[in-house]
Amino acid sequence: MAATSFQSIQGKKVLVVGMGVSGLAAAAFLHRFGAGVTVTDQSASPPGANKIQQLVQQGVRAELGHHHSETFETSDLIVISPGVPETLPELEKARKHGVPVIGELELACRFINKPVIAVSGTNGKSTVTALLGHLLRTCGFRVAVGGNIGTPLVSFADRTDQYNVLVAEVSSFQLDTIDSFQPVVSVLLNITPDHLDRYVDFAAYAASKGRLFENQQSDQVAILNGHDEWIRNISHSIKAQKWFIYAGSGEDGANFQNNQLTYQTPQHQDQIDLSVLKLPGLHNRENAAAAVLAAIAFGAAPPDIAKGLATFQGLSHRIEWVAEIGGVSFYNDSKATNIDAVARALETFDQPIVLIMGGRHKGYAFSELADRIKGRVRMLIALGETAADILAQLGNVVDSKQVATMEDAVGEAYSTAHAGDVVLLSPGCASFDMFTSYAHRGDVFCSAVKALEQK
Ligand code: ADP
Repeated sequence: MAATSFQSIQGKKVLVVGMGVSGLAAAAFLHRFGAGVTVTDQSASPPGANKIQQLVQQGVRAELGHHHSETFETSDLIVISPGVPETLPELEKARKHGVPVIGELELACRFINKPVIAVSGTNGKSTVTALLGHLLRTCGFRVAVGGNIGTPLVSFADRTDQYNVLVAEVSSFQLDTIDSFQPVVSVLLNITPDHLDRYVDFAAYAASKGRLFENQQSDQVAILNGHDEWIRNISHSIKAQKWFIYAGSGEDGANFQNNQLTYQTPQHQDQIDLSVLKLPGLHNRENAAAAVLAAIAFGAAPPDIAKGLATFQGLSHRIEWVAEIGGVSFYNDSKATNIDAVARALETFDQPIVLIMGGRHKGYAFSELADRIKGRVRMLIALGETAADILAQLGNVVDSKQVATMEDAVGEAYSTAHAGDVVLLSPGCASFDMFTSYAHRGDVFCSAVKALEQK
């Protein structure tokens, strides 16, 4: 796909809606290349207020604390942040006036003239994005890694001389606002209930994930979880080559069994040993299989991929070991903000688990965890806004308790656990009721564990 020239933005009236990290980066990029930029946020003091101030000093207009319909309707282009719902009335009116509305991902990819590998799915995106970036680096590629995982993609748009492949983590919210985005290799890991507070139903959420493939062509590759019914449904309309992955045997793609990933692509047939990966759990074998296949699809050499697998350290807050105190092992899985992530964390351990859950609701049924919890969890400790709801739905299958703070949760967990048990923070909820982010929540958990260690 030919990249758009930077001159095309010059003099255009562009409105950037939502001043999160990617909105700020989009505004800075557009201003740098000569657009007349206005930024707007419903909050009068969004988190990046001082960065907005800097932009204003450079000539960007800001409309904070409210949205002006007129600004929306008279723009040449509107760029929205992933946090902004597409159904915002001002956006709907602007669309009726013929104003194009795109997201930061679409904006970025219009200017990036290097191949993009895109990773999406409900869970595992950051892990696979980071692992794939690491594998490709080990294989000698100059790699940029960005998107949902950290650095906004638009920040890579004007430094394409610094990398020859961009690995992008993309969320469904970003996919909702694409138009021409076309990854050379796309990876869809799984689709399980999440963000039901934002989509009308699960089918709408799944359809959003399917947009990952909408511009891919037959010389490009889609890497797909062969066990996921929703992904199989979506796959019928994919034009790219489909490489399915199965745990165990599968008919039409790669499969892994006993840690051996066996794959057959139009160019190669081979095996890679996944047991060298340091990350725990079957879900991380699935993640590794996806990352390995994406690297192969991009032309990486299997022996170098194997070296990369062995040296990947994993990311914090994803079933991260924190400490062992009195024979009890503490794990921080603060990034588990939905039911499937909690289920996969529970499956990872053979030992009895004291589970800490709770936070802000994202709209699904905690009762779906009942079967996994029964027999595995010694005690369920709930905190945050959802605590009562969690206990109402799961309190009948396991001993449970409600606490007020993370410190109380850790103390209670430790006094309940026996030597040899695992204490697992896997909240199954968003963090924003008590914390600024999942990372903040994980850090508070780790500090409480460390404090216990020092007693
Ligand atoms: P994402 O970026 O999609 O949120 P992460 O890699 O940050 O994914 O992991 C988020 C949570 O999902 C963590 O709790 C992690 O242990 C869990 N997880 C990772 N990979 C998978 C997977 N393939 N299936 C289900 N859960 C997963």
